[in-house]
Amino acid sequence: MKIVQMDFSVSTRNRCQMIDITGQVGSVVAESGIENGDAIVYCPHTTAAITINENADPTVPQDILLSLAELAPHSNPGYRHFEGNSDAHCKSTLVGCSEQVLIKDGALVLGSWQGVFFCEFDGPRSRRVIVQVRGQ
Ligand code: ZN
Repeated sequence: MKIVQMDFSVSTRNRCQMIDITGQVGSVVAESGIENGDAIVYCPHTTAAITINENADPTVPQDILLSLAELAPHSNPGYRHFEGNSDAHCKSTLVGCSEQVLIKDGALVLGSWQGVFFCEFDGPRSRRVIVQVRGQ
């Protein structure tokens, strides 16, 4: 089995934003030369996340961000963290910092409506995404 690890950066424009990174992940897989296996898409940040969801209708990410804001509001008198970004830390944990995508014949195995998203919860910032491709 071959393992290739690469990374790319993502520039976010808003405090909370979901950015479709399916194309970048696919490019890493193509560059790896691995035809069959899987890719782990990993976000090395505590106030951001990775998820897979619908990338056809842009209102879907908007509704996900709305729902996360209801689960973890920006301000809460109970928050203790000094940075004032506790909501972002909570959202990162709720969504998770990685996803695993299968690779078949050199392509990502995704449903027709699925895309890989980088989720920003404390932007705007420059962020890093690490992709580890494993297989042969
Ligand atoms: Zn913090």
